[in-house]
Amino acid sequence: LTLATARETADGECRTALVPETAKKFAALGARLRMEQSAGVQSHFLDPDYVGVDFAPGLAETYAGADVILRVTPPSPAEIAALPEGALLIGLLKPYESKERLAALNARRITAFALELLPRVSRAQSMDALSSQGSCAGYQCGLIAAARCTKFFPMLTTAAGTIRPARVLVIGAGVAGLQAIATCKRLGAMVEAYDVRAAAREQIESLGAKFVDTGVSADGAGGYARELSAEEKAAQAEKLAKAVAQADVVITTAAIPGKRAPVIITNEMVGRMKYGAIIVDMAAESGGNCALTQPGEHVVANDVNIHGPLNLPSRMPTHASELYAKNLYNFLSPWIKDGTLAIDWSDEIVAGTLLCRDGATVHTLVKQVMG
Ligand code: NAD
Repeated sequence: LTLATARETADGECRTALVPETAKKFAALGARLRMEQSAGVQSHFLDPDYVGVDFAPGLAETYAGADVILRVTPPSPAEIAALPEGALLIGLLKPYESKERLAALNARRITAFALELLPRVSRAQSMDALSSQGSCAGYQCGLIAAARCTKFFPMLTTAAGTIRPARVLVIGAGVAGLQAIATCKRLGAMVEAYDVRAAAREQIESLGAKFVDTGVSADGAGGYARELSAEEKAAQAEKLAKAVAQADVVITTAAIPGKRAPVIITNEMVGRMKYGAIIVDMAAESGGNCALTQPGEHVVANDVNIHGPLNLPSRMPTHASELYAKNLYNFLSPWIKDGTLAIDWSDEIVAGTLLCRDGATVHTLVKQVMG
């Protein structure tokens, strides 16, 4: 069994799917490992750090004859062309992003696992890349907010007088939102938060933040939120507008799997925010929770600074890669025995994460959304 990892080529991507620790563990299971030269360098893992890994000079040499390809981001068309026909590919493959990519993977009969699709069951927690990377992203949102805020986050008592703590509002308290709350609390801000899922209230309060009650609750399937009706959206907007207007910082992380991010902060709400306030919109990648967000940009409207940062985990690639590589190891290792791969295709986690097999897209929700 040969596992291969090439250098990530997506713009600004600094993470890697194989770190020295997981390479050692895969090797202990009898797998052979091949890596493109310097593939770990941007995460600060140098080639000599990887014990028992063969290094290859380019993409074709790295992938030649490999059975399993470990990636962080989806492969580009050129990279798909270099995948060995019938190989197994695993990564954060953005299953809802591109029909062309799905067609190209199927044309090469790639067995593809998209970790975004991993069922959120207890047994899968150690494999949950959305959670590990979400924690990195939420932490980064808190840091961006603190660095851009023109106020102190903590309360300060100084000789010149007392400084009131900054007011932070976090909208969307999933994995990333909770980490943003924790990060802002550690920095001393006064934090309020909101989520449509009823269970989020207790989690928000356990971090010492105040729950903003809008009276709207919308639990969907699999522990995720569902889309709101027009009436629910109006009720939510009315209650949230007040909290948004009082905040120095608003961090938004609201997402619905397979859909555009809900627009929660309207132009009008931005118009009523404090001058100099900041929005860090973590949902920028999937369209943004603020109507004015531009993905990857910083825009100013009504003296409010709206940040739409992309690929936040890649800003802390060492730990993001370590956690991600462990997720991959935990996903694959149960199926590696004596250096061979024997997957139980009926396993709930395997079946739920499977995107493409035998030349077809097989995941039910992805098929529905992507046609
Ligand atoms: P996500 O990234 O899909 O969405 C982020 C948050 O946005 C969610 O909390 C969601 O409820 C919220 N949201 C959606 N629409 C909203 C709106 N209109 N207004 C306000 N908030 C809105 O979420 P996630 O972080 O991936 O977590 C989703 C769920 O999965 C949570 O219930 C989480 O606890 C659960 N989870 C379970 C496991 C596990 O058991 N293995 C692991 C991780 C997460």
